[in-house]
Amino acid sequence: MYKCSLERMSDKIKTFAQFGDAGHGGITRYSLSPEAHMARDEFVKRMTAIGAKIECDDCACLYATLEGSDPNAKRIVMGSHCDSVKNGGNYDGIEGVMTGMEVLETVAAENIPHKHPLTAMIWTNEEGSLYPPAMMVSGIICYDYLPDYLKPNFEYDNMMASKPMDKSEFANFGEALAASKYKGDKANRISPDKYCAMFETHLEQGPILEDNGNEIGAVQLVMGMFNYRVRFHGFTAHAGTFPMAKRSCMRDMTLTTRNS
Ligand SMILES: [Zn+2]
Repeated sequence: MYKCSLERMSDKIKTFAQFGDAGHGGITRYSLSPEAHMARDEFVKRMTAIGAKIECDDCACLYATLEGSDPNAKRIVMGSHCDSVKNGGNYDGIEGVMTGMEVLETVAAENIPHKHPLTAMIWTNEEGSLYPPAMMVSGIICYDYLPDYLKPNFEYDNMMASKPMDKSEFANFGEALAASKYKGDKANRISPDKYCAMFETHLEQGPILEDNGNEIGAVQLVMGMFNYRVRFHGFTAHAGTFPMAKRSCMRDMTLTTRNS
C-alpha cells in the first residue's frame, strides 16, 4: 500500500501557517491579499518541483496537474481554498489544498502509475471575508448549474464590483483580480469536459465527529451565509455604568442595514 509522508505534510502545515500568521495560533489571509499570494507562491514552488503543470483561470483559481498515462482521460482534481476569515484557523481550506498537494507529491515520489491526470487546486475567494459574498468564485464558475433563485447572488459584474469589508489597496474585487499575477485564462476553468471527479477534504470545525468517535464523515450540507453591514445611530456611553433609565435603547435607535 502507498503511504503519504507525515513528515512532508507536517512541513506543509507549518509552512503555510506562516502566511498571514495572526500571532495567536491562527491566520488572517484574505483572498488575493499579499498573504494569500505567499501561500499561492508556495503551492506553485512545491508543485513545480514535482513536475506539475501550473495553470490559472480568469478568476485566479490555481491548478497544478501531473499528466497521466492516458492522454484522453479527464482530470481528477483535489483542492480547496487558501483564503481565511479574519483571525481564522490554520487548517480551514488550506488543509484540503495541502491534501491534494500531498497526493500529487506521493504519486511523484513513489512513481505511482496513474491513468488520469491528477490536479491539485486552489479556489479563489471562498470565504468572501474581504470581498463578499462567501463562495464567490465557485458561484461564478458554477453559475450555469445554480438554481435560478441563487443566480442573482452571483452575477459576474456584481461580483467584480464587490467592495472590500476591511483594509485593502483595491477599490473592489475586480481590481484586486486584475492586479493579481494569478489571473489567467477563462479556458482553464474547472469544467465537466476536462474534469471527471473532484475530491475535497475539509476540517469539520465543529464537535460532532469527535463527540461520536468518528474520524471522518461525508458532507451532505453546508450552512448558508449572509453578510450584512450594520450601522447604529445614537451616542456612545459606558456599557456598565450608564443608567438604564437614560438609555434610549432599541426604541429610538435607527438601524440601517445594507445587504452586502
Ligand atoms: Zn473552508
